[in-house]
Amino acid sequence: MARKRERGFPDAPEPLPVAVADNHTHLESIAHVLPDGVAPPTPEAHLAAALAAGVDRVVQVGCDLESARWTAALLADQDAGCGVGADSATSVLVGGGTMAGGTPTGAGRGLDVVVGSPGALARVVGAVAIHPNEATLHAGVDEVGPDGMTWLPEERHAVSLDDAIAEIAAIAKGSDRVRAIGETGMDLFRTGPRGEAVQRDSFRAHIALAKELDLALQIHDRDAHAQVIEVLLADGAPERTVFHCFSGDEEMARLCADHGWYLSFAGPVTYPANHHLRAALGIIPRELVLVETDAPYLTPHPYRGRPNAPFAVAHTVRAMAGYLEIDLAELCETISATSDRVYGPW
Ligand SMILES: [Zn+2]
Repeated sequence: MARKRERGFPDAPEPLPVAVADNHTHLESIAHVLPDGVAPPTPEAHLAAALAAGVDRVVQVGCDLESARWTAALLADQDAGCGVGADSATSVLVGGGTMAGGTPTGAGRGLDVVVGSPGALARVVGAVAIHPNEATLHAGVDEVGPDGMTWLPEERHAVSLDDAIAEIAAIAKGSDRVRAIGETGMDLFRTGPRGEAVQRDSFRAHIALAKELDLALQIHDRDAHAQVIEVLLADGAPERTVFHCFSGDEEMARLCADHGWYLSFAGPVTYPANHHLRAALGIIPRELVLVETDAPYLTPHPYRGRPNAPFAVAHTVRAMAGYLEIDLAELCETISATSDRVYGPW
């Protein structure tokens, strides 16, 4: 019994003294990683749990065609004021299920939601893109990646890459709650040379779109630091450029800071072995720091391996204040202001 409980969500954190934003989360994916017996919370339950933990804003990232459409539906629900997750978005998320979030059910561990006032939820803005690993599938690249895996196309990949990016552009133009293009970039962990060329083209198209629409850019960079930076410098980075789940070292962080690019830190900054991330965090101007979950993965220490959710950003930001040896409220205030600067009013 005790072991099974370990597999559920992290413990509820002590609420943050000043509310922050989760810079990057995939609400629609959390249901896919839950162990047997944990009921998938609705988006509404995740947003209530986030708010209760002092995470009052969330950037929902839809980075394939299906999740971008899902994100658009979620934003429309929020705009309509009918409570997110009440209809279209929820049915996509949990296959039409109507599980009540917030109640530990079965053998697993659900969300410990403590909602101050009924219906109070974190606010959501969206980011949409075709992820680099999606771009290769839309382009029909079927090479074996360095990780030894071949990715099989799904139904949505029958759409050409150009058409897929065109749909992303339409979604971005269709809602003023879409505030970023992302995650886009390059992922050489999973891609060979043909895929790399496709990813570069796709990244460039996304950069152009962010600039055209004056939106922030959220970058996915996995084993591709040099390539991503080269493209940004060649094409000119958008005004507000954010490295989501920053994975570089001190030297790269310095370069990013020189260009005014934002670095968003996820759970890995808390993992004992990742001294390079804490070093990077320590040397950049505090005004360029963001924090995120990248839920459902990358859950902060000591909950690594459990499903992640936006409320858990409170664990990460608390650990970051500890490494920086600064007051938690002060760090939260700075991150909060930066989130507003990057994404606009929520
Ligand atoms: Zn992500």
